[in-house]
Amino acid sequence: MAWYPGAQRMELQPESDAQSAIRPTQFILHSIAAPWTARRMYEYWRDSSNLESHFGLGYEGDLAQYIGTQTRADANYTANRRPDGTGAVSIETASNLKHTDPWTDKQVEQLIRLGVWLHQHHGLPLRICRSHDDPGYGYHRLHSAWSSGGTACPGDARVNQFRKVVFPGIVKRANGQTAPVPPEEDSVPDMLNEANAGDLELTSGNWAGLSFRTAILLVGPVRHHVVVHLLFGDDTPANTVIEGRFYTTDKNGGDRSLYLPTQAYGAGGHQFTCTADLGAGRHLRFMVRARTPDNRPVRLLHRAVSGPFWTL
Ligand SMILES: [Zn+2]
Repeated sequence: MAWYPGAQRMELQPESDAQSAIRPTQFILHSIAAPWTARRMYEYWRDSSNLESHFGLGYEGDLAQYIGTQTRADANYTANRRPDGTGAVSIETASNLKHTDPWTDKQVEQLIRLGVWLHQHHGLPLRICRSHDDPGYGYHRLHSAWSSGGTACPGDARVNQFRKVVFPGIVKRANGQTAPVPPEEDSVPDMLNEANAGDLELTSGNWAGLSFRTAILLVGPVRHHVVVHLLFGDDTPANTVIEGRFYTTDKNGGDRSLYLPTQAYGAGGHQFTCTADLGAGRHLRFMVRARTPDNRPVRLLHRAVSGPFWTL
């Protein structure tokens, strides 16, 4: 069970305990076609319906969570829980009765914050879902498999805001404010986005090179701002020291050059960033080391790498 610290907890029972577990890989945004507060949504689901989303957001930015993000909710049809156990985290947002109005500034801000938390806590990759089961961010009508019989939700104005403000806001904030200066004004970066959901057991005390799609994150000459996100199992002891380290090699993996390691501790999501220019023919790679107090191994559940880069 995971509860977002930025929301008021209004737990729905029996759904919260009775519905099956998911591993959240998507975030899907809805409009509820009612100008309700987050508390009014809770009362509606508690008293009048057994369909629900994980979160509800009022016009004033009031945000509530009804079900843990690792439990199935019902707002997204086949995306609620897929046969492989992955599923979508959903949010209903207050709107007018025909969901034609845009989100308020307060709603936009809350959507960005929650989107960043889902990236950091559950490892959602920073991209718009390319298919109905592709991990990432989306809105209800984006893929037909997310509704039965089609939907206009969340409405044209909000689809436009999602693409121009909300999703770019999530990416920008998740990547921090330390983005590099483009090599030329107005030059548009390419985006690195790779994820690997295979479980990996890390023996205590040993550096392990990680592969995402492959072990090579980027090939120079490029200027880059790369973020590696790692998600460790809940059973990782709190005083486990986790170190992440970027390094570069030649094209055969030799001639290693190491960046300084960055430390993190314990279970959950950790991020490691690297902003640099990578020389011609050099390969950027990443390694990790976990040290547990009793030398037990730890489980790495999910790893993702993302960020902009420019070819030099
Ligand atoms: Zn919807």
